[in-house]
Amino acid sequence: MTIKPIFDQEKCDGCGLCVTVCRCGALEMQNNIVNIIEVAHCGWCMDCELVCSTGALQCPFEIVTLDT
Ligand code: SF4
Ligand code: SF4
Repeated sequence: MTIKPIFDQEKCDGCGLCVTVCRCGALEMQNNIVNIIEVAHCGWCMDCELVCSTGALQCPFEIVTLDT
């Protein structure tokens, strides 16, 4: 399964900070819009979500509890 951050174009102000912090080269700016170019390179570090002040990028995760 391929996973990638969820991007909401309506919330993006085009600041480019997410591209700057992404150490995996998974993001780029194209015409002031974030483009997720290398999904396979995304290490799900969540840095893009942390640096995005508008909430345009999100890296959701699921908490799974195991019965013991
Ligand atoms: S950090 Fe957020 S607002 Fe800035 S370019 Fe990235 S997605 Fe858009
Ligand atoms: S979660 Fe990390 S590796 Fe993936 S796009 Fe965001 S900053 Fe890049």
